[in-house]
Amino acid sequence: MIQMVDLAGQYRSIKPEIDAAVAEVLAGGEYILGRHVEAFEAAVAGRLGVTPAQCVSCSSGSDALLLSLMAIGLGPGDEVITTPFTFVATAGCVTRLGGVPVFVDVAGDCNIDASLIEQAVTGRTRAVISVDLYGQPADHAAIADICRRHGLAYVSDSAQAFGTPLGPADFTTYSFFPSKTLGCFGDGGMVVCRPDRAESMRQLRAHGSRQGQKYAYDRLGINSRLDAIQAAILRVKLRHVDSWIARRRANAAIYDARLPGWNPQKPGRHVYHQYTVVTARRDGLAGRLAAAGIATAVYYPQPLHLQGCLGGRGACPVAEKMASQVVSLPVHEGISADEIHRICELVDHAE
Ligand SMILES: *Cc1c(COP(=O)(O)O)cnc(C)c1O
Repeated sequence: MIQMVDLAGQYRSIKPEIDAAVAEVLAGGEYILGRHVEAFEAAVAGRLGVTPAQCVSCSSGSDALLLSLMAIGLGPGDEVITTPFTFVATAGCVTRLGGVPVFVDVAGDCNIDASLIEQAVTGRTRAVISVDLYGQPADHAAIADICRRHGLAYVSDSAQAFGTPLGPADFTTYSFFPSKTLGCFGDGGMVVCRPDRAESMRQLRAHGSRQGQKYAYDRLGINSRLDAIQAAILRVKLRHVDSWIARRRANAAIYDARLPGWNPQKPGRHVYHQYTVVTARRDGLAGRLAAAGIATAVYYPQPLHLQGCLGGRGACPVAEKMASQVVSLPVHEGISADEIHRICELVDHAE
């Protein structure tokens, strides 16, 4: 059986380091925020080339998005332009604050089509949220330029793209959900932003309490702090993540060579959180692989402009087509070249 992820296998490969890190936290008696969380924030800062003050960990990637919009004071009726072809959290944070997600269609590479953003800007637009789908960075430079010209905040939902160079967004958010390329053993997330914004973010993640004054509140925040155990685990995994990404890229290169034209994304800065192919015969292909003991997954079968609970608007025909034709193949660091060749053989024959 070849799975989409092998989290237990990954744990076994670094068990002594993880066990020692967790034991240290348990013995230390400091379980939420504290020195392990600070050490992890500093380690990520080193990896991304920013200062530790700019890295604010929190409870999840979803909260990282919510905190970013809270920091800019998003409120009822405010519009946020985003992609419909993503996980629900990307737009859910907008609706939760009373805002309206305005969906702009994706391009052939499955990321938001930057050339369509400007015509969606109205007098009520406050921000743009792009997504680095499957680990391929969106067109950050073009989107940042549009945001600058229209005075909009730019949030980059990089939940699937830890390991790519930090882009020009005002807020870059990460998820450490277990199956993400850098994942913990529970929920976790982070926002990377300017130091002054980071300071208000640290308040917002702790109920809004004023720094150093535990029971005084400048504004109402939420409870969204990272556990020390998760931070300690993440700090261990951070030492390995570049070698895992290298393995994912090598696996993706085998797929690219064997199945030219099937994956519409570009290598380069891509970290291959998912290796996704587009085919009109998606369901037949997935069934054939399942019968051979190979797992696949569809991210995402239903685009967000069709999810009524989000209250968004926008026509997105390309996203609808992608939702019916994409399928992701196993690409994680625990898969061998031989296994990839076997998968390609089955994919070839499915056509
Ligand atoms: C995983 C993911 C999130 C949510 O992260 P959680 O840590 O699960 O809350 C948000 N956006 C995208 C694109 C994701 O893939």
